[in-house]
Amino acid sequence: MVNELAALFYPHACVVCGAELLENEGGVCLKCLYQLPRTHNYLERENEAEQHMAARISFERIATYCVYSKGGMLEPLIHHLKYHGKKEIGLLLGRLFGRDLLGSDFLNSIDWIVPVPLHPKREKERGYNQAEMIARGLSEATSLPVLTGNLVRVIFNPTQTKRTKTQRWENVKGIFEVVDSSLFEGKHLLLVDDVITTGSTIEACGLALQACKGVKISIATLGQVL
Ligand SMILES: [Zn+2]
Repeated sequence: MVNELAALFYPHACVVCGAELLENEGGVCLKCLYQLPRTHNYLERENEAEQHMAARISFERIATYCVYSKGGMLEPLIHHLKYHGKKEIGLLLGRLFGRDLLGSDFLNSIDWIVPVPLHPKREKERGYNQAEMIARGLSEATSLPVLTGNLVRVIFNPTQTKRTKTQRWENVKGIFEVVDSSLFEGKHLLLVDDVITTGSTIEACGLALQACKGVKISIATLGQVL
């Protein structure tokens, strides 16, 4: 609450600790960046996120940059990225995540970075897609290209709460569509989102992408709530 107010009245304050930012700091101070609860799970096969998504969609690898917990450091960052127009936070964390990933084999065969799309109505409301900001940061650090507009969201805001596995699957089916499947055929895509929670959004994207012949999917998100 205090941080919320601080960010409102002092737009040049760190959204995590409230400290005044230097001119080149984008939304968060260096001290907070150093303290981010990073998982480094891109180094770990069958990590928690991979176990969580196993048997739901087929994928190569999953990496989550930080642990997302209530009251934790990532929460205000994601909140400001999504609801307070701080797209620079997505770019910055995407760049840092990209630098980490470069130090491993995680990105080795990736062809395209594909942000999880918002419904056009939501993107218009927000002014940008937060997942695309993260993807652009990743791209800056890794020189891998970002492809938007080929995976699209066609259903607006379904609710996922308190559903059985079958109902949830019914609910995620058909949310996303691929416009031109030939563009994705035989490609290894890095699907990017802000936070992985239940995994339904990723699952829904996976279902749409699986229609493309020979497509491979890896997943990168800034946060992990598992
Ligand atoms: Zn700070």
